Amino acid sequence: MIKKILKFGGTSVGTIERIQHVANIIKKEHDLGNKIIAIVSAMSGKTNELIKMSQDVSEDFDKRELDVLLASGEQVTCALLAGALRKLNIKSKSWLNWQIPILTEGDNTNSRIINVNTNKIEEYLNEGVAVIPGFQGISKDRNITTIGRGGSDATAVAFAKLFRADECIIYTDVDGVYSTDPNKIPVAKKIDKISYDEMLELSSVGAKVMQSSAVQTAMMYDIPLEVKSTFTDRKGTKIFNQENIDYSKSVTGVAYSKDDAKLTLLGVEDKPGVAANIFEPLNNAQINVDMVIQNISADHKKTDITFTIKRDELLKTKKILENNQSINYNEITHNEKVAKVSIVGAGMVSTPGVTYKMFKGLAEENINILAISTSEIKISVIIDEKNTLNAVKKLHTIFDLD
Ligand code: ADP
Ligand code: ASP
Ligand code: MG
Repeated sequence: MIKKILKFGGTSVGTIERIQHVANIIKKEHDLGNKIIAIVSAMSGKTNELIKMSQDVSEDFDKRELDVLLASGEQVTCALLAGALRKLNIKSKSWLNWQIPILTEGDNTNSRIINVNTNKIEEYLNEGVAVIPGFQGISKDRNITTIGRGGSDATAVAFAKLFRADECIIYTDVDGVYSTDPNKIPVAKKIDKISYDEMLELSSVGAKVMQSSAVQTAMMYDIPLEVKSTFTDRKGTKIFNQENIDYSKSVTGVAYSKDDAKLTLLGVEDKPGVAANIFEPLNNAQINVDMVIQNISADHKKTDITFTIKRDELLKTKKILENNQSINYNEITHNEKVAKVSIVGAGMVSTPGVTYKMFKGLAEENINILAISTSEIKISVIIDEKNTLNAVKKLHTIFDLD
């Protein structure tokens, strides 16, 4: 008998028939004598629909109320799944965030799980299946919180850690992690096993098949994960420690996101302290600056500074810059129609020329690079949004991933 955390994403619980199908998957595991905790997302599209409703009420909808609203999506699927299991004669019970409780800290809409009271559920697992709503918790002062988009993955990993589960399986609508999004690039290939580091880089640059903070926790506590399909029996992808993984390829995957915006301050003074004066108020406002480029100034007097931020923070960032009395510049320009395209691979470390090959490939497609950032196992570029899929396809091909 082993203890398993089974997480089902939005598409997997998107209709009543699918919830019944999920109940059958759980039944098979349960009939083998395993102890099961099922974590569910809201039905696909539900969270977006709720966000839209809040925006229709107010442009500046209160975040505490938003969390109360968003948490309801998972409450629905959680009850339906527990009911579907009972219909199959399996003892089952849903537990809401405050009933457990799942304790979180941090701001509304951006909290993280810090503890889960395991006692009652642990006891219940001897009798039946516990069904838990993903993506949410309750703060110390008893407010309902959510833990960021895609957060049910993080709930699953937190439960795997706190319940010392033997397995944590992420059931989704694709049959594993691919070399790029298989729904966008059909020649993408399934990856049988991938290291935490690579998965973390891939998910933080746009591969939403796993949420990045979930991968981070799994890496920190060495919790092996498996990503597999709810709809087929095919073998999935194992995410674990990097030993035993073949790094014969320099690049493991290509990902993209359209979450960024580019800002340029034209004609700022070229002297020590200017960059700090620009970024300090942004830092104070918790605006995350990603890539930064400073042009070489011809006259050593004026230069241009370009940087990228999250697209939904563009207006806030511009306002802060415009109100910043400690900097002088001629003009602020911005571009929202950009995409970040990234290649990720632990094999990069030992393969020279990967950067050159990437830039050459993009040049061959006549794609202009607007900004660049690198880490040991990742290279990201900002390009014009309209070239996104073209760039992904080209990189996928030249790094032998098709
Ligand atoms: P869930 O609702 O089950 O959590 P998500 O929509 O969050 O599912 O994640 C699954 C989706 O991730 C897939 O449908 C796929 O389009 C997308 N995706 C992006 N990059 C990748 C990748 N490298 N491998 C697999 N899927 C990916
Ligand atoms: N329902 C939430 C979202 O759409 C959480 C999740 O699905 O993981 O972001
Ligand atoms: Mg997801």
